[in-house]
Amino acid sequence: MKVIKFGGSSLASSQQLQKVLAIVEADQKRKYVIVSAPGKRFDGDTKVTDLLIQYARQTIHHQDTQAVTAAIIDRYAEIGHGFNVPEAQLTPIFETIRNLPKQSYADNTYLMAAFKAHGERLNAQLVAAVFQQSGLNARYLDPKDAGMVVTDVPDDAQIIKSSYDQLAKWANSEQILVIPGFFAYNRNGQICTFSRGGSDITGAIIARGVHAERYENFTDVDAIYAVNPSLVAKPAAISEMTFTEMRELSYAGFSVFHDEALIPAIEDNITVNVKNTNHPEAPGTLIQSTREPNPHYPVTGIASSSSFCSLYLRKYLLNKEVGLGRKILTILENHHISYEHMPSGIDDLTIIFDEHQLTPELEKTLVAEISTAINPDEIYFTHDYSILMLVGENMRNRVGIMSRAATALANDNIKLIMVNQGASEISIMFGVHDNDADQAVIALYKEFFD
Ligand code: ASP
Repeated sequence: MKVIKFGGSSLASSQQLQKVLAIVEADQKRKYVIVSAPGKRFDGDTKVTDLLIQYARQTIHHQDTQAVTAAIIDRYAEIGHGFNVPEAQLTPIFETIRNLPKQSYADNTYLMAAFKAHGERLNAQLVAAVFQQSGLNARYLDPKDAGMVVTDVPDDAQIIKSSYDQLAKWANSEQILVIPGFFAYNRNGQICTFSRGGSDITGAIIARGVHAERYENFTDVDAIYAVNPSLVAKPAAISEMTFTEMRELSYAGFSVFHDEALIPAIEDNITVNVKNTNHPEAPGTLIQSTREPNPHYPVTGIASSSSFCSLYLRKYLLNKEVGLGRKILTILENHHISYEHMPSGIDDLTIIFDEHQLTPELEKTLVAEISTAINPDEIYFTHDYSILMLVGENMRNRVGIMSRAATALANDNIKLIMVNQGASEISIMFGVHDNDADQAVIALYKEFFD
């Protein structure tokens, strides 16, 4: 049995859904179909999830919601009418959209989660109706009935492990089950979503729960590329990569497959196949536990992300001060802040953070509290910080990769602010200024792939 997930662009219109239908019909093993909300139909279009976020905000602020409601209904209507789905099946979908503000929610965070989740929920109901209309033996399966229970974090939930025992009951389904991605329910029955792009996570959870032989993840690119295709024309496609490589690359910005979705796949050793809905015959990219080494390419992929910032601090004899690290980490812990890396020298220390966790006020508080605790000579935050990752299983046991990378960057006059080849032998991390990041990626690509 295969679990097959379609992203928003694969479900953006009735024309796209026609391709989805053909893909599902082409393989009897494709019994679990996970769907995103309808995505962008063209550049500049708005995803249904983003329309629902607008709708939720307008509801919270008691603003007029007529235009946004009509825009959301239009998206489902176009798909339904394209397949002649009977009005009796479409009307409840439209009514649910109109009635979202009338439901009761514990607070605005749950309201927001419920609004967002309806992008997937209603789309799965519609896709199930389209499949039935086209003669497939298909039905909608709600995450609640499937047995998916998540932690009580409305916009960043995690699966609770006991859900897998419930999901196992759905193994070997004869019928095609159409399941909405992105959300499930907490123990109180309230809707909580995963983080953005989280339908990939649902697909992986279902795959693990029903012990699928494969998790096919259909998107709108032929493969995962070795580098961001907007930086390098026709970059090398990655035919195979390991789970670890994918995790490290998605950490630094590879967004084709959600990094949290890898965990359930790893736990049950399920091969993930990223494929293109618009070109389903292309083999795509396989993500699995091991892969054949490719002696020609020590590097599998290069990524960069500017979503980091750093806290620099300098203090004479910092290396000799007992308990300094603990004092800083306690302050971070008190503010529920995690850190990414902490390279240090004799008198200096840099702490790198995911900057989404911070606000200007919080930064001021942290600087004040750390200053009181350890009395540094200098301390400041900087946001001009990108992390570049060079990742490849073949880098293990290879000599000279660091030298080639550093030389390529130096030849392009790129200043390195941090280098980390720490715990993982399959990646090297560079800290560079935001302005240099794209050029650095291109320089590394030329060195290792051209
Ligand atoms: N529709 C959700 C989002 O836009 C989840 C997903 O597409 O995976 O984030």
